[in-house]
Amino acid sequence: MPHPKSTEEPVSLVKSADHLLQEVKGPGVPTGIHGAACMTCAEESPLFDDDTLPVAVWGVQHAQQTSHTRFLFRTEKHWVVVRREDRESEPEGPPAAGGSFAGPAFVGLMCLLTAASGFLPLLTT
Ligand SMILES: [Zn+2]
Repeated sequence: MPHPKSTEEPVSLVKSADHLLQEVKGPGVPTGIHGAACMTCAEESPLFDDDTLPVAVWGVQHAQQTSHTRFLFRTEKHWVVVRREDRESEPEGPPAAGGSFAGPAFVGLMCLLTAASGFLPLLTT
């Protein structure tokens, strides 16, 4: 019996009749984008790919400089919705490598959108 946890098969959270939501994986796609915001003054850390340590260091330094001690730490991921027939027609392999619209330009756009959406709620307050 094969091991139930395969690294090759993408994890899908939501399946519908004709669409599939799945995590974007592949070269150049971070496994997580980490950031933090101070809940007292709304200052935000830079965003860091794949590493939580710089965010933790930013939080400690911000607390030392301001005495602000409450933060919202967050991790974001890239997701994509694909049509099921597109996915079924793809050859076996990493999901980001076979998609026609999941190339570097799309991933870059998703990075920008993700970063922008993280800043929007704090800019409007
Ligand atoms: Zn603060």
